[in-house]
Amino acid sequence: TVRTRFAPSPTGYLHLGGARTALFSWAYARHFGGTFILRIEDTDLERSTPEAVQAIIDGMQWLCLNHDEGPFYQMQRMDRYREVVAQMLAGGTAYHCYCTPEEVEAMRERQRAAGEKPRYDGTWRPEPGKTLPTIPEGRKPVVRFRNPLDGEVTWNDVVKGEITIANKELDDLIIARSDGTPTYNFCVAVDDWDMRITHVIRGDDHVNNTPRQINILKALGAPLPEYGHVPMILGADGEKLSKRHGAVSVMEYPAQGYLPEAMLNYLARLGWSHGDEEIFSVQQFCEWFNLDHLSKSPAQFNPEKLAWLNNHYIKLADNGRLAELAMPVLEREGAAFEGAPPLAEVIGLMKERANTINELAGAAMLFYRQPQPDDALVAQHITDAIKPALAQFAAQCGTVEWSKPALSALMKEVLGAHKLKMPQLAMPLRLIITGQLQTPAIDAVLALFSREVVLARLQKFVG
Ligand code: GLU
Repeated sequence: TVRTRFAPSPTGYLHLGGARTALFSWAYARHFGGTFILRIEDTDLERSTPEAVQAIIDGMQWLCLNHDEGPFYQMQRMDRYREVVAQMLAGGTAYHCYCTPEEVEAMRERQRAAGEKPRYDGTWRPEPGKTLPTIPEGRKPVVRFRNPLDGEVTWNDVVKGEITIANKELDDLIIARSDGTPTYNFCVAVDDWDMRITHVIRGDDHVNNTPRQINILKALGAPLPEYGHVPMILGADGEKLSKRHGAVSVMEYPAQGYLPEAMLNYLARLGWSHGDEEIFSVQQFCEWFNLDHLSKSPAQFNPEKLAWLNNHYIKLADNGRLAELAMPVLEREGAAFEGAPPLAEVIGLMKERANTINELAGAAMLFYRQPQPDDALVAQHITDAIKPALAQFAAQCGTVEWSKPALSALMKEVLGAHKLKMPQLAMPLRLIITGQLQTPAIDAVLALFSREVVLARLQKFVG
């Protein structure tokens, strides 16, 4: 059975690249009815923070990427790593090295000077018939992995195809520091083994770690997972995605008014495709997703496409849900709800053109503030020629049935009686009722406001 994991280092927010890796790993497990594991790689004590852990968990929660096991924290697995180090030392797949960092540095300097690739020279590596140096008094050793000297490591990367690295390119990696703390590649290998991971899907910045992890797994007698290294996400300018390209933290998107289903749909298409399909639900994605159609070339982040998808999902979304999401934005803007139409209805009228919830909330504000039409616009649109028509409209507003069709019929009647064209009446009404010229259809706007509010606002101009 399939077991995948998302293994972020909690050194910052959950960025788009991380969220996409998480989505792919999650969807792959879901596709096969497998298990998705969350593992927090928090051994870098200087850079890991509890806030970053929370930010990652928040981001995954927003996207509904629920894990079946975990979160596991590497810092809570130290005993286990120590145990494995001890087993490897006992079994001869690892050894103590008493070189100081300065000695290793000097070794590298010599190699660089001789035009060689710097690597550990094997001073403390035990070999049959070799006499090791005398252990310096009081010195604490590091533990090194006994990497094979010959042969090569090969894996068939599900994204990149076959990759082969010669073992002589790989160093005898330090797996435990002199204070006993285990190192990065070793922890990942032990975790993937213990957590019985079958498929490792991660960013291709980890390709160089893979042969090291494979060698450690082999030394442990562990089964090897499949590896798939997905290319980075680039900005539209072809550079690695960064702050310059806009929001990179996933949680900035809900703050800007994006829906999680839009983000999921967007991320799913970032480096993966299913024919020409652009719009699909996350359930559909889980059904389709396998590792065969992951792209070898980097995906480019396109904010316009994300906005387009968001508009699509806003149009589909339930108005009550949108109202709940928009409410805090309206409250921040100082919306006055008294006597105003219900937000869900306003949203139903306005969501067609909104790319984000925040945009939608901004547009909806016209229902929740006192209109303050610009004097110049008033002078331009509410002329003496129009006022009699407005007066007639106002007079009949007192008794007309308060519905969009009835208000629309009333407008037509007034237009006919005064030989006016639609904009000559619609524009003044927009200005008077909302304070602006751009609104949804004015009959729909009028019908949403109460008769009392409309009459009161008309009265100010045609008293
Ligand atoms: N902790 C690594 C990172 O955040 C991921 C390691 C992995 O997936 O193997 O980049």
